[in-house]
Amino acid sequence: MYATDPDELQAARAQLVTYSARLLDDGLAVGSAGNMSVRVGDVMAITPSGIGYSDMQPADVCLVTPAGTELTDEDGRGNRETPSTETPMHLAIYAATGAQAVVHTHSPEVIALSASRDELPAIHYQITGLGGPVRVAPYVRFGSDGLAAAAVEALDGRQAVILRNHGAVTYGRDLAQAYDRALLLEWLARTYRLALCYGEPSILSAEALDEVAAEAKRRRYGERRQP
Ligand SMILES: [Zn+2]
Repeated sequence: MYATDPDELQAARAQLVTYSARLLDDGLAVGSAGNMSVRVGDVMAITPSGIGYSDMQPADVCLVTPAGTELTDEDGRGNRETPSTETPMHLAIYAATGAQAVVHTHSPEVIALSASRDELPAIHYQITGLGGPVRVAPYVRFGSDGLAAAAVEALDGRQAVILRNHGAVTYGRDLAQAYDRALLLEWLARTYRLALCYGEPSILSAEALDEVAAEAKRRRYGERRQP
């Protein structure tokens, strides 16, 4: 028996459909590529495999246990669709991090970068929102446990990873934050590519990034203390 609030579950399914449509609108994926998930209580709600985002309904969103078993839904019917092929990667990220939502994109800027670089460097201080320079994980076939392991390893200390010749993954405390991070990552990759047009760009040092992270933390702390 898995503790899952039915209302929370329905909200998560609807939210996943809404954000999946945004994935296309924002140019982060085409067709049915990419996938996303939300942790709801003890289970993971994840987008189905092979359904175009424009056709997806909340009831198509699948439920999977932390062990990777498909859950029967509240009416005992089970998932009506097949969970995303990247279910092992999503589960591995929940197991290894404090993620409450995971977004996987096939966005062009990060894919282009992944084919020729080992890391997205700190071209802009906002990269601290992803934990620092973003690593490119080695290429492993889609849907494999090997890809899940490579993604988790490259996520160490980060909230984003780029998958070589494949795409990117971000996570957050909720779907909105994970999705915003996917947009930020794509923007940073584009900005880096533009900077390369001028020659060798200036990259922020680890000390400069530490200073930014400390200041951001201080300001958030100050806001919380305000009535
Ligand atoms: Zn993919």
